[in-house]
Amino acid sequence: MIGTSICFDPGTSNMTLWVDGKGIVTSEPSVIAYDAQTGKISAIGKKAYEMTGRNSDWIDIVRPIKDGSFFDLQTVQSVLSFYIQKLCGNKVLKPNILVSIPCSANTVDKRTVIDLATSSGAARACAVDETLAAAVGAGVDVNSYKGTLIVDIGGGITDISVIAKGLVCVSSSIKIAGNTFDDAIISFAKKEKELIIGKITAENLKKELGCTSFLEAEIAMRTVGKDILTGLPKETEITSVDVFMSIREHLESIAEEIRLLLEKTPPELSADIFENGLIITGGSAKLKGIDKFLEYRTGVPARIADEPETCVIRGLAKLSKAKKLLERNACFYKTRQELGYDEY
Ligand code: ADP
Ligand code: MG
Repeated sequence: MIGTSICFDPGTSNMTLWVDGKGIVTSEPSVIAYDAQTGKISAIGKKAYEMTGRNSDWIDIVRPIKDGSFFDLQTVQSVLSFYIQKLCGNKVLKPNILVSIPCSANTVDKRTVIDLATSSGAARACAVDETLAAAVGAGVDVNSYKGTLIVDIGGGITDISVIAKGLVCVSSSIKIAGNTFDDAIISFAKKEKELIIGKITAENLKKELGCTSFLEAEIAMRTVGKDILTGLPKETEITSVDVFMSIREHLESIAEEIRLLLEKTPPELSADIFENGLIITGGSAKLKGIDKFLEYRTGVPARIADEPETCVIRGLAKLSKAKKLLERNACFYKTRQELGYDEY
C-alpha cells in the first residue's frame, strides 16, 4: 500500500496521532475552542482544555467525542484535516489511516469513521477495535490460542474484551470511566462539603488523591471552589477517603461488568484468563490500586500495562504493519470509492 501510515486514537479525553517514521506526533486533550463570532477554531487540545470553565462568552468550548463515539463529526473532521495537512501536506501521496473505535461500535459506526477519515484527506482508512490495539500495545501475544482479558478504562467508556488467536472473542462496553469519577467528585463536594468545583479541579483531585481502598495514611488537599450558599470563593479540605467514597460505586460497576463478561466467556477461555490474568490499559489505569481492586472483585490476577494511556496508539502502530491480523478481524483499508460515495 503506497502512502505514509498514520494512526489515530480519538479518545473521549485525549486524541493521539502516530506517524510512521516519526512515532507519536501529538497527544492532546479532545477539546476544541471556537470563536463564537467567526465560527473559526481558536484553540485545539491543551490550550482549549485550560480554557474550560474559564471561557468568555466569545469562546465556545466543544468536546467532540462523547462516550468513545464521534458526537460532533464536523469538529473531528476539522481537527483531523488540520493534522493531516500539517503532517503530510507537503507529500504527493495522501496518507493511509488506521483509527481505533470502541468495541461496541457496529458496521455503521465503522463506516462513519472511514467516511470521516477519507473526507479529512486520507487516501484509505481502516477502523479497528481499540481493545485489540490496547492488547497489542500492552505487549500481549494476541496470536496465542490462550485467551487474555483486556480492560481499557479511558475517559468516557470502559471497554472489556477477551482476545485469543488474534481475535476479539467476547466483549462489552460501559459508559463508566474517568469522567464519571470526576462528576462523582463534583457531586460529593457539592453535597457533603457545600462546595462547587469545576471539572478541572475534580480531575486534579482524582489524580492526586484517587484510590480504590481506605489508605493507611490518609492524604488531603486544600481545595478552592465556590460556597454553595453565598456563591463566594471558599477553601475546604478534601481527603483521599472523600474521593474513594465518591467513586466507589462506579468502581463496583466496572468490576460487575467484568464479572458479567466472564460469565459469558466459554470455559476453556476462562481457564486461560485465570492463568494469563487481566490487563488494565487506558489513562484511568493510573488510579492508585485499581489492579488490586479488580483482582479482589473478580478473582482474576490483574496487572496494569506499562504506560497504560499510550497502549492503544502503540498497538495501532504495530497493527498498521500487521495486515493479516487486521484482515482476520474484518478490518480492511477502504478508499472513498470503495465505500461507494463517488458513484452517486
Ligand atoms: P480516552 O481514551 O477516553 O481519551 P485515556 O485513556 O486517555 O482516555 O484516559 C483519560 C482518563 O484517564 C481521564 O479521565 C483522566 O482523568 C484519567 N487519568 C489520567 N491520569 C490519571 C491518574 N493519575 N489517576 C487517575 N486517573 C487518571
Ligand atoms: Mg482510549
